[in-house]
Amino acid sequence: MTEIKVTNPATISRFVQSLAEHGVKLPLVQCPDDAGTLLDADEVPVLVVDVNRERSDEDVAWIVGMIQVAVNTCGGFTASIVPAEDTCPICAEALADDDICATDIEMGICHAACLEGSPTVDLETGEPVDGPIDTYRYGDTAPTTGSDHE
Ligand SMILES: [Zn+2]
Repeated sequence: MTEIKVTNPATISRFVQSLAEHGVKLPLVQCPDDAGTLLDADEVPVLVVDVNRERSDEDVAWIVGMIQVAVNTCGGFTASIVPAEDTCPICAEALADDDICATDIEMGICHAACLEGSPTVDLETGEPVDGPIDTYRYGDTAPTTGSDHE
């Protein structure tokens, strides 16, 4: 069994350079529109998992995440899997406490700005409604884990 170690900086830079020579700029990122597609840092598609759509979306997202972590790690990037509830499903950016968010009936918590232009629906009934969407600070949704002021 071959053990692969990529702790050697020369190996890492060679890996990054080889990919760059073939038009792939690290780190790889997941495509916000398609969980099965990995993009390079310039948002150029690199690979698609489950082209024939035979796997569940959940499995595909995990497989893509694992490939992303593996490739990025080989390139010297500290890779981590961000829990889905902490990222905006539209732009795939992490949700920060100060971000103004809104809840999309299908996608859950998104940046309010990312949802702009989407139809507004009543979260209870699913009926389209007029008027602005309800927004809130993402930090206000986080569970309270104790405070220094008490
Ligand atoms: Zn967003």
